Amino acid sequence: MQIDELRDSLAAMAAEKGLDRPARILLTAAECAPLAKTGGLADVVGTLPKYLNALGMDARVMVPYHSVIKAKYGEQVEYLFSFTVSMGWRTKFVGVNRLTLDGVCIWLIENEEYFGGPIYLPDREGEQYAFFTRAVLESLFRLDFIPDVIHCNDWHTGMLPLLLKTQYINSPLGQTRTLLTIHNIAYQGLCNFDFVQDYLGIQEGSLGLMERYGMASFLKAGCVMADRVNTVSPSYAREICTWEYGEGLDPVLSLRGDVGGIVNGIDRAVWDPASDPKIPANFTADDREGKIACKAALMEETGLEVALDRPLIGMVTRLVEQKGLELVMAAMDELLWQNDCAFVLLGNGNRKYEGWLKGLEERHPGRACAWIGYDDDLSHHIYAGCDFFLMPSRFEPCGISQLIAMAYGTLPIVRETGGLRDTVQPYNQYTGEGTGFSFARMDGMDFADAVRRALAAYSNPDAMNGLIHQAMAVDYSCDNWAYEYGQLYLSML
Ligand code: ADP
Repeated sequence: MQIDELRDSLAAMAAEKGLDRPARILLTAAECAPLAKTGGLADVVGTLPKYLNALGMDARVMVPYHSVIKAKYGEQVEYLFSFTVSMGWRTKFVGVNRLTLDGVCIWLIENEEYFGGPIYLPDREGEQYAFFTRAVLESLFRLDFIPDVIHCNDWHTGMLPLLLKTQYINSPLGQTRTLLTIHNIAYQGLCNFDFVQDYLGIQEGSLGLMERYGMASFLKAGCVMADRVNTVSPSYAREICTWEYGEGLDPVLSLRGDVGGIVNGIDRAVWDPASDPKIPANFTADDREGKIACKAALMEETGLEVALDRPLIGMVTRLVEQKGLELVMAAMDELLWQNDCAFVLLGNGNRKYEGWLKGLEERHPGRACAWIGYDDDLSHHIYAGCDFFLMPSRFEPCGISQLIAMAYGTLPIVRETGGLRDTVQPYNQYTGEGTGFSFARMDGMDFADAVRRALAAYSNPDAMNGLIHQAMAVDYSCDNWAYEYGQLYLSML
């Protein structure tokens, strides 16, 4: 559907619900790109509202005024007002500020003690985000913005639905609905019971709802109390209802029976090979001269031998266990020894992986490069210049990297889990269908087999051409993504 049709369809749905004004949505989270970002969560919170507004909704954002935001955007931020809240026996300052980015109103909650340092305060994350949750609810009255839906994200705002339903039911927020999106169930926000009870004034009876390992879990509170819970892909939604992936919340989630998944979109204003100003040459599916130039430039930049016929496999990732680096460690040496291919990785995180990757680079001079660090420009070069993109994740709620890779005609090689399973169609050598390569088991041999299948396809230009066209045609635009969220919000009213 065209954007006009999407907008009309949402307007019709809103009218059915008796709304005679744009639906008011508040997205709240710990992070929001490009202001403060450590992962994919920030991309969702930073991108979705812009597209919701383009579809006729009134979506706004509320996030902490982190020190990184103050340093970078301080001059554009407008101070609105401040007040104090009681947190048990403590009195805390809440400053409310506003920043408008891409036409989206972002309210920034200020408090030096909690947000003057890192985005996640070591050992005090629970307290930090318990405060934030209280500040969000208290600020909304004072801003005179009563949302139809508050869209909470991950454990940091997981406590909000519980507070809303137990402490604000007779307030102007009494009719407000809540959606909790789980971006990663592995992080649950565990806190001492006594502290949570005292700090947020939670009644004895509600405490049991959030019990996890004898602690209070913010995420569990949200899973039990939010009007709707969803996640970032249909497969991950199914997986987290199972013992293997549910991290102990599977009984609660399967009992709800309504956990759905909406695959994230990618912002084509940022990620489009035809217009991306960060890559050495632009290209389209039909004219890929520019992609060859990108490959040459990338090989040069990363110290690889410039051999354009040699298949180049890339990876851009946080170096954490989730991303399947054990499989790379198990198989990559042999793959490089046995096949004429090259490998480039950009990532940072766990020292164990960083050290091993540096060793790989030394063992395969000119054919392997491990670039340790976070580098947005280089990530664009890798998406554009590689032939294949590796994502052998142990679990993957949605994954954005494989979507970007496909948009740049770089075929993903993925493990069939979560969003990877939902977005990458494995190559069928008999019909030519597919957008990438996949394997099922968390096993080095199976991973190596998928890479070998990709390398075999590389030597068949017709097959590659078809695959690249199919991958680049996949539509993960933000319009459709925002439309799905728009429908979900309205269905909750
Ligand atoms: P996750 O959110 O689990 O890290 P995603 O695939 O959803 O995984 O999103 C990761 C995003 O972060 C992608 O846009 C990817 O390009 C980017 N990214 C990850 N590591 C780096 C890095 N070292 N340098 C630049 N960008 C990175």
